[in-house]
Amino acid sequence: MNNSLIVMGGGIIGLSCALELRRRGTVVTLLETGACGGQASGAAAGMLAPYSENPEAPDEFFMLCRESLELYPSWQRLVRGMSGMEFEYTECGSLYAAYHEADLLALESRLDWQRQHGSSGAILRGAELRSMEPGLSSEVKAALWTPEESHIYAPDFVAALREACLRSGVIIHDELGALELAAWEPRVEVRSRGGEVFAAEQVLVCTGAWAGELSDRLGLRIPVQPIRGQICAYTWAEEQTPLRHMVFGSQGYLVQKANGTLVCGASEDVAGFDTSVTERGIQRLLRWNKNMLPELGGKEPFHRWAGLRPATLDGRPLIGRLERAERVLFAAGHYRNGILLSPVTAKVAADCVEGRPLPGWQQAFRPDRFGAIAR
Ligand SMILES: Cc1cc2nc3c(=O)[nH]c(=O)nc-3n(C[C@H](O)[C@H](O)[C@H](O)COP(=O)(O)OP(=O)(O)OC[C@H]3O[C@@H](n4cnc5c(N)ncnc54)[C@H](O)[C@@H]3O)c2cc1C
Repeated sequence: MNNSLIVMGGGIIGLSCALELRRRGTVVTLLETGACGGQASGAAAGMLAPYSENPEAPDEFFMLCRESLELYPSWQRLVRGMSGMEFEYTECGSLYAAYHEADLLALESRLDWQRQHGSSGAILRGAELRSMEPGLSSEVKAALWTPEESHIYAPDFVAALREACLRSGVIIHDELGALELAAWEPRVEVRSRGGEVFAAEQVLVCTGAWAGELSDRLGLRIPVQPIRGQICAYTWAEEQTPLRHMVFGSQGYLVQKANGTLVCGASEDVAGFDTSVTERGIQRLLRWNKNMLPELGGKEPFHRWAGLRPATLDGRPLIGRLERAERVLFAAGHYRNGILLSPVTAKVAADCVEGRPLPGWQQAFRPDRFGAIAR
């Protein structure tokens, strides 16, 4: 059992951490209650967009997102090579649209600090904007162009990660049903409802929106709650102008996928663990889409779905080891950016499993930062 680890959760975070740790020589067993990628990771639009997702300031969260974007080209190549599977990875850049002069001011100040942090972006207007993205509504006054941003086809990427894990020797048990962290001293034990016991030296909890379920068991506040994202996709006929960039606005986003579909997301609803799609949620998206891209007028999406983003109280993920239960580590709570953050999370979590200290700025993600539960 020396050098052994259980990863709980087979979403993109659990699979990425499992792969990285296996590559470093750890004996990894991944346990998943349902299907790998069956929750948020399989529902995501796959945007890798640290600049568009961080409008405020270059804080620790932005730094983590940006580092992850930088890791993506080599990480996705590695997964492609190890899995032997194909998936879309498109470096197309993004446009953040402004309808009013007042919105433009905010984009200008955003561009100001983002240029000091790796963006070679610019504000585009008029003919220049139309030539870059001909389908945009004439109501769009200007846009912040960020050429560094990209996207990936999340369901295929997650499937490739799973295959890469298997080929590198990660032991995967999925469809196990409910799983419980039964003990963590003197060794970690995870029990299935059927009575099966899995043991290892350490456990890495990657259970996404379900991470908060361990609060009572560990006596710690782990404030993670599910925020439902409803999302839809259109088929995009050959004669229609494909979008060349990801397009963001204050109400949503549009991403053109290589398979011809146009993905449009996403709502942010508090609905517990309910993943159903509501007419109201989708209609709000449709209204926004048509304002952004008039060609969508009169079209109906062919596919609608929803997933549960794991949101923490301060919007930052939980990555690291618990002080009070040192065989227990977390990599969860990635909210809107878990696809983007998967390579850097794998790297940081693997460093923690190996006992390396976190750099100072990454203390912001310590999983026990919310303190103990008052008894
Ligand atoms: C509509 C939508 C669009 C999104 N778009 C983007 C995007 O464009 N870019 C981006 O970066 N992010 C995006 N996200 C966010 C991203 O999907 C999540 O942050 C990410 O998938 C979280 O990954 P995860 O592995 O932590 O969680 P999940 O994928 O939810 O995986 C957690 C897994 O843990 C399992 N589990 C639960 N309890 C247990 C247990 N006790 N034991 C073992 N396993 C357990 C679950 O079954 C699940 O498979 C989007 C999310 C949604 C919903």
